[in-house]
Amino acid sequence: MKINKNAETVLKQRYLIKDENGEPVETIDGMFVRVARAIAEADTLHDEKADTTETEKIFYDMMTNLEFLPNSPTLMNAGRDLGQLSACFVLPVEDSMESIFEAIKQAALIHKSGGGTGFSFSRLRPEGSTVNSTGGVASGPISFMKVFNMATEAIKQGGSRRGANMGILRIDHPDILKFIDCKADNTEITNFNLSVGLTEDFMNAAEAGREYELIDPHTRKAVKKLNARVVFNKIVDAAWRNGEPGIIFLDRLNRDNIVPRQGQIEATNPCGEQPLLAHESCNLGSINLTKMIKKEGGSAVFDWEKLERTVENAVHFLDNVIDVNKYPLEQISFTTKQTRKIGLGVMGWADSLLMMGIPYNTEEAVQLAEKVMAFITEKGRETSRKLAEKRGAFPLFAESTLPQDKPQRNGTITTIAPTGTLSIIGGCSSGVEPVFAYVFIRNIMDGTELLEVNPVLKEKLEERGLYSEDLMRRIAKEGTVSHIKEIPEDIRRVFVSTHDISPEYHVRMQAAFQKFTDNAVSKTVNFSNSATREDVAKVYSLAFSLGCKGVTIYRDGSRDEQVLNIGKVK
Ligand code: UDP
Repeated sequence: MKINKNAETVLKQRYLIKDENGEPVETIDGMFVRVARAIAEADTLHDEKADTTETEKIFYDMMTNLEFLPNSPTLMNAGRDLGQLSACFVLPVEDSMESIFEAIKQAALIHKSGGGTGFSFSRLRPEGSTVNSTGGVASGPISFMKVFNMATEAIKQGGSRRGANMGILRIDHPDILKFIDCKADNTEITNFNLSVGLTEDFMNAAEAGREYELIDPHTRKAVKKLNARVVFNKIVDAAWRNGEPGIIFLDRLNRDNIVPRQGQIEATNPCGEQPLLAHESCNLGSINLTKMIKKEGGSAVFDWEKLERTVENAVHFLDNVIDVNKYPLEQISFTTKQTRKIGLGVMGWADSLLMMGIPYNTEEAVQLAEKVMAFITEKGRETSRKLAEKRGAFPLFAESTLPQDKPQRNGTITTIAPTGTLSIIGGCSSGVEPVFAYVFIRNIMDGTELLEVNPVLKEKLEERGLYSEDLMRRIAKEGTVSHIKEIPEDIRRVFVSTHDISPEYHVRMQAAFQKFTDNAVSKTVNFSNSATREDVAKVYSLAFSLGCKGVTIYRDGSRDEQVLNIGKVK
C-alpha cells in the first residue's frame, strides 16, 4: 500500500482500533479489511446469495489504492460495536425547553460517535420575549447556542474528533444583529461554525437598499424593520473581521429539497456541504482525482473509464453504508432511510490540475471542473438507478421532485466535502481547494507539527534535478513558488497557491462544482490580509449570482489561531 508518513501518523493516532493502553490492535491494512468487509455485508440484505467476497475485494482495492475513501466515521467505526458511520446530521430545535435539551442530548450522542451536527435556531423566540409558563423572559437563540457549545466542549468526541456544529439563524429573526456579532470574540462559541440564513427577498432588498421585516417566530408577527443593505454590510464586516459568520442561501437549499412535503431544509452539517431535513443524516465519500489520471501521448489526462468504474463502486459502497450503519437514534435511522441520501464528492482536484499542467485560476480549469462533476453526478445517478432496479427506490421516491420515469435508490448523490483528514490519508490536496502552500507545516489536533512537501511539485522538481531541502525551506518561508527565480517560469505559472488566486476565481471554481452537485460544496474563499470589506461584499454578490449555495470566507491572519499557516518554519 502506498501510504505516506503523515497518513500513517493520522491513521495510527485516530483511526485504528486500540487496546486499553492505547496501543493499536489492528494494522492499517487490517482497518481497510474491517471496513470493506462490514460494508460489503449489506449486499446480503438484498440478495441472500450475494457473493460478498467479491464486493469486499472491490471495496478493499478501491480504498487501499487510495482511489476512494469514505468519511472518517466509516473508517473508524465500521465493523465495530459502535458502528456509527455518518459524518453529517441535522437536528431540529423547536421553541420549547424539552426540544432544546433533547437536541443537546441527541447532539452529544452523535458527537461521541464522530459525527457533526447542524441546527437552525430560527424557531426560538427572541431574547426578552415572554415565557408563558413561568412569566419570565426568554433567553433567546444565542444564549442557548452557548449551552450547546458547552455540552460539545465536554464531549470532544472521545478524543478522535472535535465535536463540530453548525448554527444557523434566519436573516429575519429579531436577534439577527446579535447573532452576526456573537463570535466577534472568537474565543467564544468555538465548537460552532455559524451561518446567516439569507433569503432571495433579503438579497433583493439589500441590492435595492430597502427595508425588510424581522418576524418573531413564536407569535409570527413582524416586530421591527431594518434596512437590508445595512444588515448585509454588517454581515460583510463580521466575515471580514474573522470569517464568522458565513452565509447560506436558504431558498436555494429548498429549491433542491427533493421531498418538500416532508418539511423545509433549515440547516446544514458543520462544514456547510450537506443540507438536510431535521433528523436526517448523510454519509459522505470522496474520489481521489489524482488517481483518475493516465498518461496519454506524454501528457496527463483524465481516465474517464476508470472514473466511471470508481463512481459505480463508490455509489454501491455508500448505499451499503446506509444499511449497515448503526444510527444513534431510531428517528434518525427512519428519516435517513426515507430518502437514502448519499454524498459522493472529490478530493485532490488541485493536485490533478498540477499533474495536467493546468493553472487553477484559468477558464480551462473552471470548465474542466464542470465536466468532471457533471460526469460524476450523471454516472452516480445511473448507478443509483441500477441499484433501484434490484433494491428498490428510496421510500419517498414517489412524492419526490425527481423525474418519475426512472426510480432512483438515493435521493441525492453528490456532495463536496472538505476532506480535512481524508486528504491526508489520500496524500492529496483537500476537496476542491487550491494548494494552500507547496511546503508547509500542519498543526494537528494534539499539537504535533508535520512538515509537508506537495508530492506533485516534488516530482516535477526532481524530474529536472532542481529538488533540494534548501529550496523547500525557502518555499515554506515565502509561502508561494511564484517569486522564486530558480524555479522555471512554466512551473511557476502552473503551481499557483491559494493566495496567488483571486477571490473571484475561488468563487468561480466553487460555482463550477456546485452547478453539477446535488447537495453543496465545501469551499473557503481566501483573501489576503489587506483585502477590504468591499472585496468581501463583491464576492458575496458574485457567489449569489453564480448560483452558489453559501459562502465561507477567510482573510489571512484574521484569527489568532489558524489551522494552515504559510511562511512559518522552525
Ligand atoms: N466533521 C466533524 N468533526 C470534525 C471534522 C468533520 O464532525 O472534526 C464532520 C462535519 O459534518 C463535516 C464532515 O464531517 O462537514 C466532513 O468533513 P471532512 O470531509 O473534513 O471529514 P473527513 O472525512 O476528511 O475526516
